[in-house]
Amino acid sequence: MSAAQRPVAEGLFEPADSADGLPWLLGSGCVKCGEKVFPAMLDCPACVSRDSMRPVRLAGRGTLDRFVVARRGPSGFRAPYIQGFVRLDDGPTIYSLIDGCPVADDALTLGEALEMALVPVREEGDVTVIGWSFHPVVRRDG
Ligand SMILES: [Zn+2]
Repeated sequence: MSAAQRPVAEGLFEPADSADGLPWLLGSGCVKCGEKVFPAMLDCPACVSRDSMRPVRLAGRGTLDRFVVARRGPSGFRAPYIQGFVRLDDGPTIYSLIDGCPVADDALTLGEALEMALVPVREEGDVTVIGWSFHPVVRRDG
């Protein structure tokens, strides 16, 4: 275990505090049109209103939109791994690492239900960098 941990960036997520045990992603929602986005932004990309976005917590639950097995990764990533896009039940489609299944092209089914966890995503010297990943609701070890 590393001596220290830090999030990949501030203000992206917070730990679970609800009964379902899932962490939250910190996005924003438009007070004019209702559009929700992640990460948070100030101006709405849908209705193009300025300064119309307010913070919202997005539940760590969604369905698999698309994915790919990455056979090489940036420095500090252990390849191969799966990366993909998850359509959150709360609206936006977001990039995520995907785990909890074999790292294989046929390991996942588009549209299947996924849940989020906070996980170590890479090492930077003695510091473990914490980010989020999504996994199948029923994990399939690989
Ligand atoms: Zn809007």
